[in-house]
Amino acid sequence: MATTAVCPICNESASQVCAGCRDIQYCSQECQEADWCAHKLLCKTFAKMKFPPTQGMVRAIWFPPLGSKPQFLWLQVEQVASAGDIGFKYEARIGR
Ligand SMILES: [Zn+2]
Ligand SMILES: [Zn+2]
Repeated sequence: MATTAVCPICNESASQVCAGCRDIQYCSQECQEADWCAHKLLCKTFAKMKFPPTQGMVRAIWFPPLGSKPQFLWLQVEQVASAGDIGFKYEARIGR
């Protein structure tokens, strides 16, 4: 894939793909290690949720009320044009 990835840590151009999910790229081993404590929470799920069930869906984390565990879900993003402004409409579906 010839996408120009940017390292989420230092914003340099990235070329090292995370071997776990192949969904995020870093410029160096150091940056990958620096991000790991946060990314490890997402890595497995990213690998499972690599491809949206239908086009136009995006991954999101949902924090339910009353202290339940956060859940990943797919959001259906639909562009809504109305009277001069363009907004996004979100429709949530619990991901698996
Ligand atoms: Zn970096
Ligand atoms: Zn990963």
